[in-house]
Amino acid sequence: MFDFGIKDLIDIFLVAIVLFFGYKLMKKSRSVNIFYGVLVFISIWILVSKVLEMKLLGSILNQLVSVGAIAIIILFQEEIRHLFFSIGTHERVSRLLQFFKPKNTNAFSEDCRYDRDTIMPILMACLNMSKQKTGALIVLQNDLPLGDFIRTGERIEAKISQRLIENIFFKNSPLHDGAMIISGGQITAASCILPISHDLDIPKEFGLRHRAARGISKETDALAIVVSEETGGITASYNNEYLPHMDAERLERVLMKGRF
Ligand code: ATP
Ligand code: MG
Repeated sequence: MFDFGIKDLIDIFLVAIVLFFGYKLMKKSRSVNIFYGVLVFISIWILVSKVLEMKLLGSILNQLVSVGAIAIIILFQEEIRHLFFSIGTHERVSRLLQFFKPKNTNAFSEDCRYDRDTIMPILMACLNMSKQKTGALIVLQNDLPLGDFIRTGERIEAKISQRLIENIFFKNSPLHDGAMIISGGQITAASCILPISHDLDIPKEFGLRHRAARGISKETDALAIVVSEETGGITASYNNEYLPHMDAERLERVLMKGRF
């Protein structure tokens, strides 16, 4: 019944690797049970149509498998996005892509993405809001455009100023809820809704504001800064990491770089 050659063994080995990395990726999110479900379905399909060669049930399952690719893309949308994003931002891939990128024509050093005029008002506003325990969530766009998130809020397109930032996050301001997005050297939008991270390793004391910061920094290459309304603590979130208890000096350094 089985006639395995070396090619088939390589084939099985490659499938095993794909399944292993798929499992690792799913385990990080909450989709691991869907992954098990898909595996059980594929096993039944192979058993019915390939091994037992049942015609009727096999043809029904074949139909389901043919739309399965689309179903998998829909079910694992977030994970697939994250996978491609991590491939794109992987250190070696980024280094390779440097060849195709135009040379950096920034006036400031390559390590500093933003200039002081952009950063100082944000820094001062965060420190002030921290003292007054005013909750805030500020996202600084890097290479990936944040249009999808900007659209969920109120477009502002204003010059970055300390007073404007503090005013927006002031408790009774109509735009204080949600995130402010900074891109292209201006305050682009406020009151934006960000994706919430469902990671289990986030400390219990961190609520939705911190989870939204983690969510956007996982899905994109943006830097997110949270000022806690409860503690006044400032936390920066970038990629899959966060730095809590930021003091002025560390915050300035992170803001200038736009990353950790
Ligand atoms: P804090 O330390 O300031 O209390 P927290 O992490 O405990 O922060 P919550 O207390 O749950 O978070 O904060 C709720 C606020 O977080 C909301 O009022 C809203 O402004 C913001 N927020 C919640 N969800 C989102 C989201 N998906 N996108 C952007 N902002 C959000
Ligand atoms: Mg809270």
